[in-house]
Amino acid sequence: MVNILLLLNIIFIIVDLTIYKSMRVKAPSYVYLYYSHIIISLLIILWLVLLNLQENKRFTSLNPKFFYSSFLNLILYWGVFMGLNNAYIGGQITGYIVCVLATSVYLYLKPVEAFLTYSSSLIILIVSLVFTVNNQNLLYTHIINASIVVILSYIISKINFLNFLKEFIHKKKILQSKQELEKINFKLKEYEKLRTDFFANISHELKTPINVIFCAEQIIDFSLKQNQCNNDNLSKYLKMIKQNSYRLTRLIGNLIDITKIDALNFEVKLINADIIQVVEDITMSVAAFVEDKGISLIFDTEVEEKVIAFDPNQIERVILNLLSNAIKFTDKAGEIFVSIYLENNNVCISVKDTGIGIPDNMLNSIFDRFIQVDNALPKNHEGSGIGLSLVKSLVEMHNGSINVKSKLGEGSEFIVSLPDTIIPNSQQTLDSTNMENDYIKKINIEFSDIYQ
Ligand code: ADP
Repeated sequence: MVNILLLLNIIFIIVDLTIYKSMRVKAPSYVYLYYSHIIISLLIILWLVLLNLQENKRFTSLNPKFFYSSFLNLILYWGVFMGLNNAYIGGQITGYIVCVLATSVYLYLKPVEAFLTYSSSLIILIVSLVFTVNNQNLLYTHIINASIVVILSYIISKINFLNFLKEFIHKKKILQSKQELEKINFKLKEYEKLRTDFFANISHELKTPINVIFCAEQIIDFSLKQNQCNNDNLSKYLKMIKQNSYRLTRLIGNLIDITKIDALNFEVKLINADIIQVVEDITMSVAAFVEDKGISLIFDTEVEEKVIAFDPNQIERVILNLLSNAIKFTDKAGEIFVSIYLENNNVCISVKDTGIGIPDNMLNSIFDRFIQVDNALPKNHEGSGIGLSLVKSLVEMHNGSINVKSKLGEGSEFIVSLPDTIIPNSQQTLDSTNMENDYIKKINIEFSDIYQ
């Protein structure tokens, strides 16, 4: 736009120097017109030079807004000056109008700013004309011209500004999408790393019990061939085979379940049953195992009976999982407390230990899949980092929640909150036949990564 304006002014100068040359002697207005074209051309050249310097970052301290406004005002007031001195010719401020429109298109002035800048220069022009022009019609022509300039410059600035705004919003949206994509990419990379770590970990987890089973089988085989097999040895190695088979069963079971949960293919079978009874029974069934490890197990409840809707098998699994962690991370002479209380329409089950605790920075992530606290695992225990994530999913499937409080070196407390609701008109009841055998199997599976 500025280039077109420059070209236009150069053509005007050529016209001034050729066609209007003789007229300049007779009418002073042609002299002003001639100087006006030269000055506007010089201003445009100055504008282009400054713009170039700024684009090449040689003028970084220059405020572009100040730069634009100075240029615009110079042109405007030159136009005012020219208009005043050409007062006696009708339509003489045409050049002025061209300058104003051209610059307002080019400048990124906000509509209100454009309106104020143009109107203030034009008020000066009109007031001066009132004092200098005697011809009423001529004065009206000037006022109409001036008003058109203000209105047009306002409209052009508005269109320009809106386009500028649209472009800005568009760029911002692109930037936002780019940032979102980067975030997703980062998450994908993190997930990919987690997946790789998981496979490395799972391979180790699968290989260890399989190796133990093979070794035990070879020893038994060798002893049989050598006729050195006695009952004590046989039962020791059979026990090893059994425990490691349970470990494999647990790992594979957990893997199948998290895959089912991910595929939304896992359902909890809710029935109305006494939650206190279920938690107490499963806790008491591990008492001998816990005490064998030199740890005390204390059970306490605020209410004697509480019937709510839950899946007894899955809640037993949750409690066993929390108990198995509590045993893993608590030393001899430590204590484990299991307590039940009611709070805000929820039944809360707390499993608290006096073990090694969890560092603050890990408290939020231990429920994430495959996350284990570095070096937290005592040497003779193993873990895959799936347990708590599965526990969380199972509790959430009951519309409940799980929270943890812990202090490094002092112990941890896991609190499971289940909603105090029942299924209306449900006929299903808890099947208590064969409960003992069932518990033994479940404990063998859930505690299989704790070695004696
Ligand atoms: P894992 O199978 O490895 O035990 P979990 O998901 O059950 O996996 O537990 C994740 C991690 O949380 C554990 O590796 C351990 O670092 C930490 N953790 C869980 N329970 C306890 C606890 N009671 N005391 C200390 N740390 C715990």
